[in-house]
Amino acid sequence: MKDSKTFGFTTSILHSDRQKAIEHGSLHKPIHTSVAFGYRDARELAAVFQGKQPGYRYGRQGNPTVAALEDKITRMEDGVATLCFATGMGAIGAIMQSLLRSGDHVVSSAFLFGNTNSLWQTVQGQGMPVSFVDATDVAQVEAAITPATRMVFVETIANPRTQIADLARIGALCRQRGILYVVDNTMTSPYLFRPKAVGASLVVNALTKSIGGHGNALGGSLTDTGLFDWTLYPNIAASYKRFAPVQWGMAQLRAKGLRDFGASLGPEAAHHLAVGAETMALRIERESASALAIASMLAADPRVAAVHYPGLASHPQHEIATTLFKAYGGLLSFELRDDIDCFDYLNRLQLAIPASNLGDTRTLVIPVAHTIFYEMGAERRASMGIAESLIRVSVGIEDTDDLLHDFSQALAA
Ligand SMILES: *Cc1c(COP(=O)(O)O)cnc(C)c1O
Repeated sequence: MKDSKTFGFTTSILHSDRQKAIEHGSLHKPIHTSVAFGYRDARELAAVFQGKQPGYRYGRQGNPTVAALEDKITRMEDGVATLCFATGMGAIGAIMQSLLRSGDHVVSSAFLFGNTNSLWQTVQGQGMPVSFVDATDVAQVEAAITPATRMVFVETIANPRTQIADLARIGALCRQRGILYVVDNTMTSPYLFRPKAVGASLVVNALTKSIGGHGNALGGSLTDTGLFDWTLYPNIAASYKRFAPVQWGMAQLRAKGLRDFGASLGPEAAHHLAVGAETMALRIERESASALAIASMLAADPRVAAVHYPGLASHPQHEIATTLFKAYGGLLSFELRDDIDCFDYLNRLQLAIPASNLGDTRTLVIPVAHTIFYEMGAERRASMGIAESLIRVSVGIEDTDDLLHDFSQALAA
């Protein structure tokens, strides 16, 4: 077979299982449900536990079906290794719990997924201060860095207001300062953007969203891009330094983050996510085209007060999105004119479904301030640019004309 390095994105995903020996020539990696694994003899069992020989120990720390998915994500992100978790939050929590120590400081984008914001509040309560900055401006990131700063955390396109972090400049800054650069790539997905291209150290993906893509399985992942020099990181325990430095971070994340906290991805979910990933590129192309059409239509309508979508020339980071991303993605948000009630509008939609989640095959809409961003309060919402009437749209793969008709008929009250 041709060298898999030269395959295109989708070919590489479709044929990745066959690159390794696969049971019975099965074309999908089988779902292995066994929690425990057998060995040739007791010495081999010990060698696997001591990391001297590859192999599986116990289902919480690794599983062949999950490993096949990890391998696919490593290819998608062009990384060196990937760890999967039960959810995206499990992956993000693992970073915080296994890499930070009391007194460490974090610089995070202020424009964050709501639960990541909530988790950072917990981390602050545990003695690790977090500075929230406008990450569209590298100067603000730089100004917040102190000698205790251990990591900079950003999302690519922030959900729901679609602010785009100054990804390349922040990458250059982190490299220059030797700081771990963590990029949550969920909103772009590795199809639209590889954070490795801007110097990311660790890449987060909520597999629940575009990668799985069908709203039928939860999952999260962390990928080490291989760019970070872990010998610069002070919090690696001695037991993980017996590996090559490029493996230190993942070794500690697997043990301290996955093994000890236990947010392990189940093999059935891993299978759903792996199958979903096969069509990711096709879905995202369609979603991006429809999202651009819907955003353009709404932006031209006087009943709409504001539309936030990186594909619009009016978007403040349109240039960055055009330079870095293959397309502009399936997420947009908009505000209606004051005299149109956002709940009434949502109730008039016939196709788009009021629901949380995004990156689903079905178009989903949600009144953000009243639901997913309700708990944080009006002040923090305002600081994130979230209007009380903001509606988030996660565009699915329905036919574009049907979606355009739906969003427009609901305006005509
Ligand atoms: C959904 C999401 C997460 C969390 O993923 P879950 O699988 O729901 O835990 C993290 N980051 C971003 C940007 C997300 O959209």
